[in-house]
Amino acid sequence: MIISKLKEALICLKAGRVTLPYPFAPHDPEDGFHGRVVVDAEKCVGCGGCAEVCPPRCIEVTDPSPEKRVLEFFLERCTYCARCAEVCPEDAVIVTKEFETATNDLEDMHMRVEVFMSTCRRCGRCYEPPTPLDRMMVTGFRPPTGESEGA
Ligand code: SF4
Ligand code: SF4
Repeated sequence: MIISKLKEALICLKAGRVTLPYPFAPHDPEDGFHGRVVVDAEKCVGCGGCAEVCPPRCIEVTDPSPEKRVLEFFLERCTYCARCAEVCPEDAVIVTKEFETATNDLEDMHMRVEVFMSTCRRCGRCYEPPTPLDRMMVTGFRPPTGESEGA
């Protein structure tokens, strides 16, 4: 019994230090680590693909007006799976290495992106899409505020 314990102690001492010094020293995660996601609002086209694939449904897409789409990320539910970044056609979702996300304020985990949709490339003003199909491509399946679904 005592011999086996001594053997165990010897093995442990031979292994040397196997833990990282974090949190007493900063830790830089390896490449490919999935930390907090951020969105580049300049690149986002408001397609909603990220919201479609997010397993915990922490991305909400709403259309407060025909020319504006709002993406809200409730990252307190994020599982760091990076599916949103994988499917984003514009590479607008960036998976950072940030992992120290503990907070007392949930607002710290809330990210809001406003995307302006369907503006004329010449004058920059919003316009009404010509057909219902075009309109659906712009506003998605949620009717603009003040308009019923059958209209
Ligand atoms: S990393 Fe995963 S859980 Fe987090 S927002 Fe993206 S798809 Fe959703
Ligand atoms: S972040 Fe990417 S996937 Fe999500 S709405 Fe914007 S362009 Fe689409």
